[in-house]
Amino acid sequence: MRLETLAIHAGGESDSETGAATPPIHLATTFRHGPAGERIAGYEYQREGNPTNDRLRTAIAALEGGATALTFASGMAAATTLLESLPSGARIVLPDDCYSGVRMLAAEFLPERGIQVRRVDMADLDAVRGACADGVDLLWAETPSNPLMKVSDIAALAALAREHGALLVCDNTFASPVLQQPLALGADIVMHSTTKYFGGHSDVLGGALAFKREDEFFARVTHRLHITGAVLAPFNAWLTLRGCRSLPARMALHCSNARRIATLLEAQPQVERVNYPGLASHPGHVVATQQMRDFGGMLSVQLRGGREAALAMAGKLRLFTNATSLGGCESLVEHRGSVEGPLTTTPQNLLRLSVGLEHVDDLIADLAQALQ
Ligand code: PLP
Repeated sequence: MRLETLAIHAGGESDSETGAATPPIHLATTFRHGPAGERIAGYEYQREGNPTNDRLRTAIAALEGGATALTFASGMAAATTLLESLPSGARIVLPDDCYSGVRMLAAEFLPERGIQVRRVDMADLDAVRGACADGVDLLWAETPSNPLMKVSDIAALAALAREHGALLVCDNTFASPVLQQPLALGADIVMHSTTKYFGGHSDVLGGALAFKREDEFFARVTHRLHITGAVLAPFNAWLTLRGCRSLPARMALHCSNARRIATLLEAQPQVERVNYPGLASHPGHVVATQQMRDFGGMLSVQLRGGREAALAMAGKLRLFTNATSLGGCESLVEHRGSVEGPLTTTPQNLLRLSVGLEHVDDLIADLAQALQ
């Protein structure tokens, strides 16, 4: 089945009890069992699983081409549960440019658990090879990356991970499975903030992991999730499952709007650089063309005139709301350096745009008046 069909039907079967044509929500925290705790329909307690969550797990596994999937209370809960399932002493390599929450997790919390972290430019394979030279247990890719939109070569990283007997995890939040399927390119685990494109309406927090194999590591992460408890609430699972149905259609419009905007912005004299993998000028364009079906709805723009010029433009935009996050119907802009705080390494002249589903000509007019 093709992805557009899976997005609607995987996990979306009609309700066997009532015939309801769309999925019901099960809010129960507890499920009747036999006198010795025998499960009747496979469920016991919401933290250990519930039918609404299982539908979403089925949908995400199908869309990513995985053997199975887990859902979490947020993207950060997914990343944390996964990384803290590694044994003490594990060595991980993280991208220099990636979501700031993952950077903080790596800087503040993982070392306390005895996990050694190295950060490197994942788009530079020689640098990654060097960082792995004296052993590695897990490589973390985020492609395209937040906020510089760097592209890393998933198949090449997977080959490197295999050489070292390491796992390759890919944060696929920016692309979504509609545009990129890391498991098919050799990754072992895909991570998502489903808060973004999966939810699609900026109204539901969530995270997910899709696993290539239902193996011992999957069992370890599942056990940790059930005990530490960062589970997705059923209502949030239901909203996210609802988002899956329109994900391919939404992604098509996000991509075409962002491509038009990136191309136009690149031609403006006030603009120093546009970071969008769909542009021929992007250093990762060739790799992106090989591993992505389209280039997504995210881009960042660096302005001549530094921080002041970036803040002035952000302040003048009317249709692009000044807000963090991404992947919703409405367009957003943020001065990423300010949002990331004092330890940011993001250039101060950079604005990150989440291009929404408004008419592209209205978005272009808004950008044009803000650039004046
Ligand atoms: N990964 C990426 C690429 C993100 O952009 C984000 C959030 O912005 C996260 C992970 C974390 O997700 P959440 O906010 O759902 O915890």
